[in-house]
Amino acid sequence: MPLFESAHRGPLHRHDETMRYRELGRTGLQVSALSMGCMRLGEDQGVNTATVSRAIEAGINYFETTRGYCGGQCQHRVAPGLVDQPSEIIVSGKGGLNPETTEYSFRQEIETQLEILGVSHFKFYQVGWFSWGRMPHLLRRGGALDALRRAQDEGLVHHVGFTGHDTPENFTRCIETGLFDSLTVPYNLFQREYEPTIARAGELGIGVVAMGPVAGGLLGDGCEALERELGLDVPMVEAALGFVLANPHVSTACSGMSTVAMVDENVAIAGRLDAATGLDFESISARLDRIKTDLEGGVCTTCGYCQPCPQGVRVPRYMVEYLNWKGFGLESWARNSLGHVPEGQSLDQCNECGECEEKCPQSLPIRARFEELRDLLAP
Ligand code: SF4
Ligand code: SF4
Repeated sequence: MPLFESAHRGPLHRHDETMRYRELGRTGLQVSALSMGCMRLGEDQGVNTATVSRAIEAGINYFETTRGYCGGQCQHRVAPGLVDQPSEIIVSGKGGLNPETTEYSFRQEIETQLEILGVSHFKFYQVGWFSWGRMPHLLRRGGALDALRRAQDEGLVHHVGFTGHDTPENFTRCIETGLFDSLTVPYNLFQREYEPTIARAGELGIGVVAMGPVAGGLLGDGCEALERELGLDVPMVEAALGFVLANPHVSTACSGMSTVAMVDENVAIAGRLDAATGLDFESISARLDRIKTDLEGGVCTTCGYCQPCPQGVRVPRYMVEYLNWKGFGLESWARNSLGHVPEGQSLDQCNECGECEEKCPQSLPIRARFEELRDLLAP
């Protein structure tokens, strides 16, 4: 029995020994089950070019880029690897917006990114760092959406997606507007808060790019207890990628890669998934859920009722990582993840007013957990 039933059994265009292709929502595009996030490319251009070329050779056909990554060098580092490559390669660009963004400035950003990459068009362009709160900036007359629609009319952009870190409820609202062809969100064994949004995207025919499917390799670190608990007989990294790809609504698992070796390893894992034996998606989901319910004091459902905190603290984010730490034993994962919470949303802002606990339907002991998390995060 396969470890994870392959969610899509679409046509295999080529590289059928290792790479499968899935429909990218309703776009008509076929995307490789494994795609490459280009934010980890380094300073050695020889390595970068070889990495991108190797990925294409191995059947990866989706590359996520933006100008801002790698200290502004991301797309410069990708470009040489795209020279003389097949036209069906999907390169996504990404631009952010703010209240000052105009049609002109957003258009300029698209053109700049095309020029850096040396490509004639984007099969995908993403509105980056997006949130429901930024919808008015996108929609305003003479704004970013006008730029995108005109670029689509001219063939510079074929499809429009978005990415960001808003709440699952708000991202569901975003996709229900009908404005987007894809969304890109973090999704892996331990970051499942967007699962309902991903399922809704599947219903709506919106492509889903799952970011961080193996959590930058963190899932391979210190997960033995969890592996035992889940009854896995494959390495955690393999199980993690398999879990993401087994979700029938995920179009592609987008993993950051920076070397040929990393590409080869990930491609090999993706290729082995159907041959491995063990658990299926439903079974592993159920086991993960059971570990959650065993956590003393209850778990955060990420309902968001505790928000907004008067001090700006992003309570659900901390509660989810508390679960990952205490429930799943992912100490370094939780520490690393919470190290990236923006300053104005961190638990350092908390004045222990208790308002969040009063609003929490799970009656979670939020302040007590914050105390434990402070110890975890102490230098
Ligand atoms: S206890 Fe802290 S996190 Fe909760 S509402 Fe008050 S300030 Fe915000
Ligand atoms: S109200 Fe409670 S369960 Fe809901 S997101 Fe906040 S902490 Fe989590």
